[in-house]
Amino acid sequence: MSEVRERIGQHLQVLVQDIGARPPGSPANRQATAYVEQILTTAGHRPVAAPFTTRWWEPGEGHLEVGGVRVGVAPNPYSPAGDVRGRAVLLRRLDQLEALATATGAVLVLTDELASGQLLPAAFPFLDLPEHRRTRDALHRLAPAAVVAVSDHWEPILEDPDLPFPSTTIPTELGRDLHPGDELHLVVSGAVHPGDGVNLSARIGDGDRRLVLCAHLDSKVTTPGAFDNAASVAVLLALAELGHLDGLPVELVLFNGEDHIDACGEVAWLAATDLDQVAGACNLDGIGLAGRRTSLAALACPEPVASELAAWVARHDGWVAAEPWIESDHAIFAMRGIPAVAITTEDVHALLGGLAHTADDTLEVLDRDLLARIAADLPSLLTLLATSLTTAAPNHHDG
Ligand SMILES: [Zn+2]
Repeated sequence: MSEVRERIGQHLQVLVQDIGARPPGSPANRQATAYVEQILTTAGHRPVAAPFTTRWWEPGEGHLEVGGVRVGVAPNPYSPAGDVRGRAVLLRRLDQLEALATATGAVLVLTDELASGQLLPAAFPFLDLPEHRRTRDALHRLAPAAVVAVSDHWEPILEDPDLPFPSTTIPTELGRDLHPGDELHLVVSGAVHPGDGVNLSARIGDGDRRLVLCAHLDSKVTTPGAFDNAASVAVLLALAELGHLDGLPVELVLFNGEDHIDACGEVAWLAATDLDQVAGACNLDGIGLAGRRTSLAALACPEPVASELAAWVARHDGWVAAEPWIESDHAIFAMRGIPAVAITTEDVHALLGGLAHTADDTLEVLDRDLLARIAADLPSLLTLLATSLTTAAPNHHDG
């Protein structure tokens, strides 16, 4: 246990402290994948690199001026830099946006329904929704001078490199001061860069039918990403290098794009993989928070596997069953009907606002003893999954 704990600490030190924010496409991300590759190679595994190209964003600063009052604002990720002035047009709903004939020279101020959550970017490969597509289409057609989203949602409302105007998200407390026809002056900086990277995977045991054991190693550019998700990567690396996964029919996959607009690493790995040979997946995302239990959700798991997992959770201290959540890398499998297990922290969605993707997601929030305990429990969970899933017939999925 202490050896595992020590190795977890070493990996966290490198990924969080030495490297820090590691968005796909950036030099820091390539440093992170080089480190992971070296750890796996040194341990005698043979990591496979699936290359990709993408775009990453170097954040800048911003301010918004209205009626002679100037306040600092955060540019939306991937916002083009700009220094623009325009009259405010306030819009609450999609039908109001679509009804606008023109917005040339205007600053669209999106509130309420139009700013209730993040707009899916066009580049995201796994999901689109009609209202999101219509919103993007209207924004492209109107080509406003800038967009100010007014929202207390935990993520910026726009994060889309294909939207050509500068934008920011401001809290509702500030948004209350904006009125139709106000002259707004928005200044934002930052840059979008092309970049490349790799998705890393490594086969541990023998046999074609296998479990994917995965965690994403990338982070948003705004965070050192300790809890989300270096903690999971550190646990998997420690298990792999100390031989605790030996003999299990596992493919270790360090996804590189879960927190990225185009899921570049996920797409690269999927293109290189025959999913018929993937019997199930176990994804770790957001583990090891001090003072919290670890949650396990079963998705697309047939009986008796679901019951066996519930019994496993009941037998293990510090674990709790959670409702299925269709996000993160387990969704790639569950949405195709491949049984998947999602491991995270109890009540994780309530924690997202204040911690995930922020500068506060540092080593201090993690409990290394807890991470070592999770690492100690995982082989028995994987044995259960391997026994119940890899001997069964191939899954049916839509590719
Ligand atoms: Zn994550």
